[in-house]
Amino acid sequence: KEEYMMQSEKLTMAGQLAAGIAHEIRNPLTSINGFMKLMRSSKRSTEAYFDIIESELKRIELIVNELLVLSKPQGKHISKPLNILPILDQVITLMKVQAALKNIEIRNDSPDSSQWILGEINQLKQVFINLLKNGMDAMESSGTIWVTVVSTDYEVQISVQDEGIGMTSEQIQRLGEPFFTTKDSGTGLGIMITQNIIHNHGGSIQIESIPEQGTTFTVKLPRISKPEDA
Ligand code: ADP
Repeated sequence: KEEYMMQSEKLTMAGQLAAGIAHEIRNPLTSINGFMKLMRSSKRSTEAYFDIIESELKRIELIVNELLVLSKPQGKHISKPLNILPILDQVITLMKVQAALKNIEIRNDSPDSSQWILGEINQLKQVFINLLKNGMDAMESSGTIWVTVVSTDYEVQISVQDEGIGMTSEQIQRLGEPFFTTKDSGTGLGIMITQNIIHNHGGSIQIESIPEQGTTFTVKLPRISKPEDA
């Protein structure tokens, strides 16, 4: 009976997601359609219409690309032993360039010894790119984002703490809902994808947030002992 419930819940989830995708893609499609018609009937130069059509196409591309992350085959690639620390270093190096443009500093506080988990490197990078990007988006300009790694016997905990606008409890409730966004050009898919990836890695994710003060996302992943060939 329990399994049946789970199956039907999943179907509802898939239906909701499909409805969301249809809606999100229909808007730019309607707009592209409209501007194409205008261009057909207009004798004047239509340069400006090209810009709009191009940006609407980019929007569809962004949504589709984010969704592709979700549909990538899971499971069989997930079980590779990985040291999480160099993965975090790489992501931070990548994001520091964007952060510097907003005068935001990303600081990293990690243990000296390797921290081993089982996972798929690109999916894990995606998680920390999403969290760092959200942290940066939440900060006007200047400030610090802390990436902290702590380990227990069983878990590696990675937290990403920003000094941004924070979230209300209503916002926190809605996190992970497909297409929930408060940003003008957001997709509202980042957190859903992040939760999905962490769940598939046997981990969990926690959120603490105070409006006007900042947000901390903590990712917990099962820790493994150092692999023999490492
Ligand atoms: P997007 O970034 O495209 O909006 P996400 O799923 O990544 O999509 O985030 C959904 C919403 O959650 C954001 O629009 C924002 O309102 C809120 N959010 C996520 N991370 C943070 C954060 N670090 N600080 C404040 N709000 C956040």
